[in-house]
Amino acid sequence: MPKAVGIDLGTTNSVIAVMEGGKPEVIVNAEGGRTTPSVVAYKGEERLVGQIAKRQAALNPKATLYEVKRFIGRRWDEVKEEAARSPFTVKEGPSGSVRIEVNGQDLAPEQVSAEVLRKLVADASAKVGTGIKDVVITVPAYFDNSQREATRQAGEIAGLNVLRVINEPTAAALAYGLERKGNETVLVFDLGGGTFDVTILELGEGVFEVRSTAGDTHLGGADFDHRIVDWLAGEFQKEHNFDLRKDPQALQRLIESAERAKIELSSATETTLSLPFITFDPETRTPLHLERTLSRAKFEELIGDLLKRVREPVQQALRDAKLSPNDINEVILVGGSTRVPSVKRIVKDIVGKEPNESVNPDEAVALGAAVQAGIITGDANLGDIVLVDVTPLTLGVEVKGGMVAPLITRNTTVPAKKTEVFTTAENNQPGVEINVVQGERPMTVDNKSLGRFKLEGIPPMPAGRPQIEVTFDIDANGILHVTAKEKSSGKESSIRIENTTTLDKSEVERMVREAEQNAAADKARREKIEKRNNLDSLRVQALQQIEESQAEQSLKDRVKAVTDEVEGAIAGDDDAQIADVQKRLEEALRELMQAGSGQDQGQGAQAQGKTQPDDVIDADFKPAD
Ligand code: ADP
Ligand code: MG
Repeated sequence: MPKAVGIDLGTTNSVIAVMEGGKPEVIVNAEGGRTTPSVVAYKGEERLVGQIAKRQAALNPKATLYEVKRFIGRRWDEVKEEAARSPFTVKEGPSGSVRIEVNGQDLAPEQVSAEVLRKLVADASAKVGTGIKDVVITVPAYFDNSQREATRQAGEIAGLNVLRVINEPTAAALAYGLERKGNETVLVFDLGGGTFDVTILELGEGVFEVRSTAGDTHLGGADFDHRIVDWLAGEFQKEHNFDLRKDPQALQRLIESAERAKIELSSATETTLSLPFITFDPETRTPLHLERTLSRAKFEELIGDLLKRVREPVQQALRDAKLSPNDINEVILVGGSTRVPSVKRIVKDIVGKEPNESVNPDEAVALGAAVQAGIITGDANLGDIVLVDVTPLTLGVEVKGGMVAPLITRNTTVPAKKTEVFTTAENNQPGVEINVVQGERPMTVDNKSLGRFKLEGIPPMPAGRPQIEVTFDIDANGILHVTAKEKSSGKESSIRIENTTTLDKSEVERMVREAEQNAAADKARREKIEKRNNLDSLRVQALQQIEESQAEQSLKDRVKAVTDEVEGAIAGDDDAQIADVQKRLEEALRELMQAGSGQDQGQGAQAQGKTQPDDVIDADFKPAD
């Protein structure tokens, strides 16, 4: 039976895992890696995903897309600043959405993420030997409605059936808590490449209950890298009066070497950044090099204010859970950036406890997602595990004076449903517009509007008389559905909240088709290459046979003549020609092998030398099957 898998679709790295005999296990990718960089590169017709895409980033900075998760489900005005420092082109799309321009084509972030999902699942399917369709995908707990919805759509575009979208820290806690007995309150501290999440959970007797969650969707290891980049570029500018950040290729090299330095500083106290030939002197045209030593202390100074920013979300999560640091039994570190020593130090400082490092910070989220996939598909090994998750932000409707009336407050357990009754402000008001708002502030303008819809056809009544029932319904994915109903007339109107930045149905369908076509084109391209490789290896084999064979020279010359056609055929685009040369070469080779072994024609040794005539026994003799 095809298995359901769990996917940690990370800003920086993604991981896929599956349940094996009651235990979640990471599935390695085609390159043998346990994590896959969430990087997609467009090279001519080709799409590269993962490590191979990351490796060529410096040479192809405009078409190598990374950290796209920062843009998924967001509005252009929310990400302008981040877009500006990206080496590839991020711009405003239709209705204030975000698009990424690559080779003159506009891509939605969902489409790019879909490429990552597609690779993870294709590689995993090959490894487990069966097609995978059902997935659980994780998102940061702090992701809002449109970010969740967009993530789900990315799965859809990749041709997957998204069973559930769950919170990353909840998943990490699942992985951690699967083998724990007894009751515990744990705090999951997840600092990845682009986002920071903190979640407090109650674990006990198979129940995982989220108490509170908070975070910062604009804080992660990449910000540390940028601090190093800014420092390096600033020093360089002082010396040479040239801003390296303006040159996309130099910027990409700076970023890569900054990340390497940062990682080294997790174990070493000093490191050297060396970037030879980083640019040319604008006047003398001589090459310029960059070399700097960075100490851990200096690095800590560079990121000092970023580190301070983790404090508030942790304290907010504690406040929301009505707990003090003493109530936390374990602190679980998740995400690559928790390997930075000063991050560990600040966690210890805030919670007053040595963090627990029993889970692998890179894998815990995907493992937990696999457990969740197992729970949903009824994996018998899992017994009765119940996952109780919460919504991260308060949801409400706009009322008179631009105020917000909250319906579902943050940290309410999901799924959740809540109805409240509203009324009109004017006599004979024929309709109302419901503005669905998300956020913690009392005024609409300070929060995010998730979408609006109208309820019309209210019968004429004095102000304050109509009873308009508004129902908020959050499903287990944390995605909101809203209904409004006027009680006397029974008039009803509803929306599934898809704000302007979310793709509409027809767009998703188009993207699914395109992704399928792309996958088909990729397959065709691979097959084309395979045909050429096969022909070429046959040529090599033929040349070897010519050398070794006892057959007469004229026959050898004939075979050689066919091998001479191979190069031209491979260089060309004509598959029929490839097939023709392949066939003739196979025949010629068969003839040569038979002649060489003293056999009559037609006795069926196959070309490619896989089988030998029966009576020839040599070192690699194998009986024909
Ligand atoms: P995400 O959840 O965003 O995909 P990960 O949890 O994979 O991210 O973390 C990626 C981040 O962790 C990157 O910024 C990477 O540079 C950083 N990182 C990985 N290993 C280390 C290390 N040993 N020291 C410091 N930072 C690290
Ligand atoms: Mg992560």
